[in-house]
Amino acid sequence: MKFKGLLFDKDGTLLEFHNLWLNVSHGVSQVVKDYSNQHQGHQNVTITALLSAIGIEGDVVLNHGLLASNPVEDIAQAWFDMLAPDVSIAAFTQVTKAAFNQQVKHHCEWIQALPGVTEKLRAFKQQGIYLGIATADTKDATLYSLAKAGLSELFDYIGYSDGDIEPKPAPALLNAFCQQCGIEPHEVIMFGDTVSDMEFGHRAGAKKVGVLTGTALRDELAPVADLVISSVAHFDLQAFNALD
Ligand SMILES: [Mg+2]
Repeated sequence: MKFKGLLFDKDGTLLEFHNLWLNVSHGVSQVVKDYSNQHQGHQNVTITALLSAIGIEGDVVLNHGLLASNPVEDIAQAWFDMLAPDVSIAAFTQVTKAAFNQQVKHHCEWIQALPGVTEKLRAFKQQGIYLGIATADTKDATLYSLAKAGLSELFDYIGYSDGDIEPKPAPALLNAFCQQCGIEPHEVIMFGDTVSDMEFGHRAGAKKVGVLTGTALRDELAPVADLVISSVAHFDLQAFNALD
């Protein structure tokens, strides 16, 4: 088997994205606005404006937006610039991060594996394929979500973004996956629902498979992916090995 490791983005790729993250984002933006109001932040910035700044328009999550593609530090920075509260960016980021972790737990009924994904991952595992996660989410929310979705035991590597490793699309998480499993980037296929995930795979020297279970449309992923499929559940590793 040519490809020895499969690395997955988490939200929108393995786990259901929209219901959870729309609910979480509304909750977090309210917490952050209240905190800002208590610290002389701009009162006239609306929740709608805060959501729009991270790529949420109504109930649509934009593929290139901060929520879909970036770590929480970037979201905190964008909101800090808008609200300008009288606190340090470090304190503001900490409050934002804590609010995200808390809201994920508060809306945990929405945390679930996408249809057919659990069975597919188990099948890969039985074939001796290394499995990993590369997410822009925090450590706490990542471990909590995977446990809640019943996927924790399936992974040889879980890479998150908590300020201690360069986030996607820098190749650090993919390199860490390879190091952990003793494989090379060209033996890895990266799966993701965003253009940023595809850029991440490309920069690290891996193959890229785009999935349509998250925020991006086929037209957005096709130019930057080696293959676009409807879901991880429909990936045929043998066919991909033969193709390449
Ligand atoms: Mg995603």
